[in-house]
Amino acid sequence: MTDLQVALELIRTVPDFPEPGVLFRDLNPLFASAPAFRVVIDEMAARLPEDVDVVAAVEARGFLLGAAIAVARGVSLVPIRKPGKLPVVADRVDYALEYGTASLELPGGVLEPGAKVAIVDDVLATGGTVAGVVELVKRAGATTSVVSVVMELAALSGRDRLDGCEVQALQVL
Ligand code: IMP
Repeated sequence: MTDLQVALELIRTVPDFPEPGVLFRDLNPLFASAPAFRVVIDEMAARLPEDVDVVAAVEARGFLLGAAIAVARGVSLVPIRKPGKLPVVADRVDYALEYGTASLELPGGVLEPGAKVAIVDDVLATGGTVAGVVELVKRAGATTSVVSVVMELAALSGRDRLDGCEVQALQVL
């Protein structure tokens, strides 16, 4: 097994979380292993297209990955936040979840028009979350160059909602 495969093996599947019938992919054992976290960050950073100049990291687990990737690549970090956390808000998007809706906000004054953005999160499931971020990036006059996740749950067809954006996933289940 490669070091990356060893790292991905640390992701554990927890049944019935956050509700009965859901299989939750828990990355905490991966984050807790210094060599595993390192290899995952190195791999995600290396796969980003050359022209990326901003990492947009999705609250909350996307922050852990996105911050490290931004530092590794020497590019800007823009945290995409849940409502009520930001003192200066540029824009807000509301999107549908399986049950109900959720919202995300873009901080004001930090994403330049024309920027080439990599959206980073831990898991791509139905794609609703990342599709919301793609919309925020577009409205800011920037472009989503790539969506980078550790794990893509292919059965939920998230990438079909991403307007043809390139999706990079270290593991597709
Ligand atoms: P989506 O909007 O359905 O694609 O769900 C993606 C969002 O929910 C991401 O921000 C993930 O952090 C979170 N998520 C969904 N399923 C899982 C999972 O199995 N493990 C960890 N996070 C998940």
